[in-house]
Amino acid sequence: MMSTHEKTYTTKANFMLHGGDYNPDQWLDRPDILADDIKLMQLSHTNTFSVGIFAWAALEPEEGVYNFEWLDKVIDDIYSIDGRVILATPSGARPAWMSQKYPEVLRVNGARVKQLHGGRHNHCFTSPVYREKTQKINRLLAERYGSHPALLMWHISNEYGGECHCDRCQGAFREYLKKKYNNDLKFLNDAWWGPFWSHTFTDWSQIESPSSIGESMVHGLNLDWRRFVTDQTIDFFENEIVPIKELTPDVPITTNFMADTHELIPFQALDYSKFAKHLDVISWDAYPAWHNDIESTADLAMRVGFIDDLYRCLKQQPFLLMESTPSMVNWHPVNKAKRPGMHLLSSIQMVAHGSDSILYFQWRKSRGSSEKFHGAVVDHDNSSDNRVFQDVAEVGKTLEKLSGVVGTNRPADVAILYDWESNWALNDAQGFGLKTKRYPQTLVQHYRAFWEKDIPVDVITKEQDFAAYKLLVIPMLYLVSEETISRLKSFVAGGGTLVTTYISGLVNEHDLTYLGGWHKNLQEIFGISPVETDTYYPEDKNTVSYQNRSYELKDYATIIKLNGATVEGTYKEDFYANTPAVTSHSYENGKAYYIGGRLEDQFHRDFYQEIINDLELQPAFSVKHEKGVSVQVRRAPESDYIFVMNFTEKKQPITIESLVKDLVTGEDVSGELILERYEVRILENKK
Ligand SMILES: [Zn+2]
Repeated sequence: MMSTHEKTYTTKANFMLHGGDYNPDQWLDRPDILADDIKLMQLSHTNTFSVGIFAWAALEPEEGVYNFEWLDKVIDDIYSIDGRVILATPSGARPAWMSQKYPEVLRVNGARVKQLHGGRHNHCFTSPVYREKTQKINRLLAERYGSHPALLMWHISNEYGGECHCDRCQGAFREYLKKKYNNDLKFLNDAWWGPFWSHTFTDWSQIESPSSIGESMVHGLNLDWRRFVTDQTIDFFENEIVPIKELTPDVPITTNFMADTHELIPFQALDYSKFAKHLDVISWDAYPAWHNDIESTADLAMRVGFIDDLYRCLKQQPFLLMESTPSMVNWHPVNKAKRPGMHLLSSIQMVAHGSDSILYFQWRKSRGSSEKFHGAVVDHDNSSDNRVFQDVAEVGKTLEKLSGVVGTNRPADVAILYDWESNWALNDAQGFGLKTKRYPQTLVQHYRAFWEKDIPVDVITKEQDFAAYKLLVIPMLYLVSEETISRLKSFVAGGGTLVTTYISGLVNEHDLTYLGGWHKNLQEIFGISPVETDTYYPEDKNTVSYQNRSYELKDYATIIKLNGATVEGTYKEDFYANTPAVTSHSYENGKAYYIGGRLEDQFHRDFYQEIINDLELQPAFSVKHEKGVSVQVRRAPESDYIFVMNFTEKKQPITIESLVKDLVTGEDVSGELILERYEVRILENKK
């Protein structure tokens, strides 16, 4: 873990980046519009633009015929107003001539159907032609712009995702498996539980990627395919950056990560904990559906905070918000406008959780095609007078006062463990409730207990150092290797507090169950053995009694056999009434808790309050407030930067006990204040 007060300038800019995706290649026949863009950039208090993301057809209109002059002018014009450029490689979408001449670049889907040219993000990651073409254009971009003073960083491709099942990819998958299993088919058959349904492979060529018209029931195969897709995507990325690393070794590299957006959870299809190691800076595209009809503003804000904390911790340094919308998107089921105040609040929340930028998709709305109604800084009216443009300018003016925040981090004593592989395996498991596993959502349920109390949380992945934390929470960690189990044991032995739940520690890294009961080391740490897990229908309920209060239980209840642990809570109903539901156990210098059932939010509040008291966990800065207000802190050597945010639709009284400075108004602030709906205050506490 980084030292808690050190600053990390991830982009070598000592100011907050404000701007976004700029697609001048859609307006090359309208020099008047491009000239207006430069004027409007200044009026909007923006300073950084991502260019070239989907510009391959404009850069290479025919194979081997290049046209960079328009991009020269765009970059020079941005620099002339002291703007900076995040230069993209164009591999996210390719010109039609390429698909036509080299059909191998087209993806084949899981049903083995070759896709036509169209859309974007639809190339084969293995295709030698696509890899060669990508390297070629990237080299030309790096040669031409590598030393341009406006160049801030590289934006490699765009929103990597998807998978290809073509013959080349099948070959690459088999090579991946040969390497992983030491060229030993018996090792693979053992790991995949081959004899089941006669699925023993006798030749590598028999192995195919999972398919709706073929194999989907071999969990070891599914898991290895998901791992391969991540590895092959990274391999493609590594191929892309060869000329960039060679020609511009000092320019940082990012690619924009995503979230899965219907219920805002971390992106599921790629293991970002692996991808992060190949990037200099983490960036992501955040599109929460504010003002939706299923959850409160505060609940959505909490889930945004969870993903921010996960992505920030992938490198334990500030990240960038690469895309967001100043108003609405075009792909939510209902594309609602941000209410007054929400744009500033939702932008500053990203900064509060560690972003050193507010960047948008998109600078200017397209005139045609699918994104013509996606929110943008500049609307079809080409005006600076409308509400959205003014909201953007207000964010810009605010960010100009936050240069001290750039590079600062957020130390935490609490970590929640997120694991992509465990989530894949759990979703694959045919058992428990097929619709109620909800691993990311379960983690957010635990995160809530800390978010509501303003206690900073790191959301970490399994290869990170557990010893840096006082409390480690690992809900539903279904897949866990022997190695991770030993590290958890050392963590508790060394004085750490560990919390886990039902459906944890059931399978190893091959998705093979542990035999002979719960793993011996887990039994030792927790002083229990989970013996049976009952799954509930949606209408089923139970009650757990904990500290003389009753809490509602849904979905899951694990029956626990004690082996030295203390009973903290018991089930009240069913054939396991009055048996342990929540336990604690002292192990060497630490303590381990097991929560047997999926309990309501109030249980987590009360349960974690006890641990917060025991471990003397504190908010990074104390502000008294009601529910729906969040206080987040970024810490610099000389100052703490405090973000007080009202994620409710009403006025909220807050009390600040020390004297701090409001960074926007410049005035000193102390005592009782009223936050208007969606108001945010940014305060500095000088040390
Ligand atoms: Zn392929």
